[in-house]
Amino acid sequence: MAKYIFVTGGVTSSLGKGIISASLAKLLQASGFSVTIQKFDPYINVDPGTLNPYEHGECYVTEDGAETDLDLGHYERFLNISTSQANNVTTGRIYQTVINKEREGAYLGKTVQVVPHITDEIKRQMKLLGAEGFDIVITEIGGTVGDIESLPFIEAVRQLQWELPDEDCLVVHLTLVPYLSAAKELKTKPTQHSVKLMSENGVNPDIIVCRTEHPLSIDIRRKIAQFCNVKTEAVIEAADASTIYEVPVNMMREGLDRICLQKLGIPVSGEPNLGAWTHFLNKLRNPHHHVRVGLIGKYIELQDAYKSILESFVHAGAVNECCVEVVKIHSEFITIDTVEEKLAGLDALLVAPGFGNRGVEGKITAVQYAREHRLPFFGICLGMQMAVIEFARNVLEIADAHSTEMDPDTPHPVISLMEEQKHVTGKGGTMRLGAYDCMLAAGSLARSVYGTDAVQERHRHRWEFNNAYLSTMETAGLMASGRNPATGLVEIVELPGHPFFIGVQFHPELKSTVESPHPLFVQFIRAALEHNQKKSLPKGVHAKPQMI
Ligand code: GLN
Repeated sequence: MAKYIFVTGGVTSSLGKGIISASLAKLLQASGFSVTIQKFDPYINVDPGTLNPYEHGECYVTEDGAETDLDLGHYERFLNISTSQANNVTTGRIYQTVINKEREGAYLGKTVQVVPHITDEIKRQMKLLGAEGFDIVITEIGGTVGDIESLPFIEAVRQLQWELPDEDCLVVHLTLVPYLSAAKELKTKPTQHSVKLMSENGVNPDIIVCRTEHPLSIDIRRKIAQFCNVKTEAVIEAADASTIYEVPVNMMREGLDRICLQKLGIPVSGEPNLGAWTHFLNKLRNPHHHVRVGLIGKYIELQDAYKSILESFVHAGAVNECCVEVVKIHSEFITIDTVEEKLAGLDALLVAPGFGNRGVEGKITAVQYAREHRLPFFGICLGMQMAVIEFARNVLEIADAHSTEMDPDTPHPVISLMEEQKHVTGKGGTMRLGAYDCMLAAGSLARSVYGTDAVQERHRHRWEFNNAYLSTMETAGLMASGRNPATGLVEIVELPGHPFFIGVQFHPELKSTVESPHPLFVQFIRAALEHNQKKSLPKGVHAKPQMI
């Protein structure tokens, strides 16, 4: 029988429920339990695949092709496990299932209602992963207690607490304890109100995790315990951390895992084994080198739009004992006239994924600069497509080469809509999604980076390299070093002879974890480091910009 931990949030959003959930899961996993985490989101979209990054940050894609909340990325990065569609459920998906059942006649004769039909479906989905053999299932409830749309989820938790044995279920509530500088005091009232709101809905938290900018004194802890019906040791301080990867260690120090295990009736034996984790943290905290990597995209002002890429840099930096300073550069502002100045001083360039026309010419110009100046280049998804267009325009001299995504009438569609996409009309869940096989060409950089000849990577796109141009491109020096064995689609391109020039149609950033940093990112940072070290060579030793 699985045990269930529910994580709710109060007072305000953006307190980091995902990180707290992932940290708790990490500690329990490091104590020998099999743990998974799932996220229940209260919005009506069936999944976040149709949301733009301004609304909901990055869309994370799982192995099985589910378009999910970015918190699943944290779960995978912390736990080094794969999640799936079952790990992310929205109100939209719950209603869709219930309405489909109603149409099939499953509730014949009954009025279909939020309670019990919607809450029953929520409970069924909450317990799905528990039936798969996990010891502990952590369920993060999106949104903030008090939101109208969260109510059915809180109600489902209330019902489950009654249905499951007492020791099989607990609720962790994450709140904010703000510091009022005028009064020079931490304030507990918002936490009291938030817990009161939950108890009005029939759910009493067992543990309260308090986000705070200042240490919680014992008096503050006692006060929160007294007003919120928990033991003092169940009031946990979650102080601001310099990196999210410190949070598991901080939570261990506060005893979050121990108190959870006690409440779940599981004997606590010894401390979690965080050996590999602390090894990573030490490397992260004590870098010997420093590189500046340009991230070229059109959502650079958003903190969460390129989450997985930024985290992959952190993992790859730690392996290389190198601090990776990411310089975010807006692709719309890169032109032939500004490129030199915008990219000055960089050790490498990553051109980001994306959709639509805005900023693509800037991306193409940046690729050209990286190719001609032998600057390490990594293109992901749209970034790879931009590299192909750049090569066609500037090496093959096909000036009007383009992708049909941006120019449907281009006479030279070097990037074209995939065959299977041509009849797709709906937007939700219809891209080429999830893990696909990729065979790596002998003698390629890709093959040596991965150290194997076959990999699986995750995809999220509709357009692809147009194979009608493959032989011309290859003759001119662009190598298709990764191909899908079933369809022949080009998944990786590279430029032999360049220090590091790789474009990938898939999203390697979705598979980089603390314990398994992605080899492409690791090698990309190594190339940046080599570039950086070459810069300090005496003049003349450094190669001049050249065309390849
Ligand atoms: N817009 C491009 C496509 O659909 C690239 C997608 C992406 O970068 N994820 O093919």
